[in-house]
Amino acid sequence: MIYPSVKIDLEKLRNNTNRIVNLCKEKDIEVMGITKGICAFLPAVRAIIGGGAKKLGDSRIKNIKMMRKEGIGLPIYLIRCPMLSEIKEVVDLADGSLNSELEVIKALSYEALAEGKKHKVILMVDVGDLREGVMPEDALDITEEILKLPAIEFEGIGTNTGCFGGVKPTYRNTKILADLANCIEKKYSIELKTISGGNSDTLNLLKESELPPRVNQLRIGEAILLGTRVNKFPELQFYRDSFVLEAEIIEVKMKPSRPIGEIACDAFGKVPVFEDKGLMRRAIAAIGRQDCIIEGLSPLKDLIEIIGSSSDHLILDVTKSKDINVGSKVRFRLSYSALITLMNSNYVTKNYS
Ligand SMILES: *Cc1c(COP(=O)(O)O)cnc(C)c1O
Repeated sequence: MIYPSVKIDLEKLRNNTNRIVNLCKEKDIEVMGITKGICAFLPAVRAIIGGGAKKLGDSRIKNIKMMRKEGIGLPIYLIRCPMLSEIKEVVDLADGSLNSELEVIKALSYEALAEGKKHKVILMVDVGDLREGVMPEDALDITEEILKLPAIEFEGIGTNTGCFGGVKPTYRNTKILADLANCIEKKYSIELKTISGGNSDTLNLLKESELPPRVNQLRIGEAILLGTRVNKFPELQFYRDSFVLEAEIIEVKMKPSRPIGEIACDAFGKVPVFEDKGLMRRAIAAIGRQDCIIEGLSPLKDLIEIIGSSSDHLILDVTKSKDINVGSKVRFRLSYSALITLMNSNYVTKNYS
């Protein structure tokens, strides 16, 4: 085995997906399985499909290209609004995309027309999180323009909350989307196939039947991958350890808890502060900030504490863990930010079973 390594339990991943798909099915909601958090790592993508996801979404066209090359035939959507410079690949590789700029949608139509294709568009509406999306009051006008485009299938509208602005999804802000859907349908005498209501956070609205009835799709990444953010469903017991990091210990020594000498800046330009706890048993694991957002690691053994990190080293307090020695492997549960960085790192191997 080559370390550091992310261990993936495909059965747990398949299980998490299945629980979410079933939860949504009860309310006639389709799940778009979001693969960006794992760089569309193929065995994991197949587990998500095995768990019942019938549609996939990724933010990177490169990941979509790889999935197509490997023979994934499900509908795949580009969920980050396309760059003008990638229009051709988007039309070639994705069934549809989430969009917020008319100029881009026109370019998609132009390209799709040239290729004799139709490209599906979900218009993103900003209900307050202030990331992507048109403002609700502008949605009707832009719809009118989209409907004029010959090679665009205007599939529906969507929104995203809880990402940039930290705005929580609620019945109220999600209903802006649902009301807008009714309004668009009435004004232009069309039927919107998809009302894409949000991400993992929005699943919680299903608990108290707080999801406005028109919403019929959710785009789920984190809840499938890590079983987190679905706080309102403790009874579903999602697996939180489908992905675990294993790192190897390269040094164990008794050292003081406070650095010796005059303190200036650390390797990342910060002035560190350390509490004096006397001598401690310290271990170094061979993993660092080039590989992982270290703040997102939680040791699976309670007795181990993370003290800090540099580009290549993770410093641990193992005073209460006498069995940790040079060569030992320590295991960590991952947050979403730790997962995405680890999956992206060339230095971290990915192993699955
Ligand atoms: C990342 C992303 C999602 C998935 O979010 P999770 O919190 O991982 O469920 C959904 N929609 C868009 C537009 C995204 O960028």
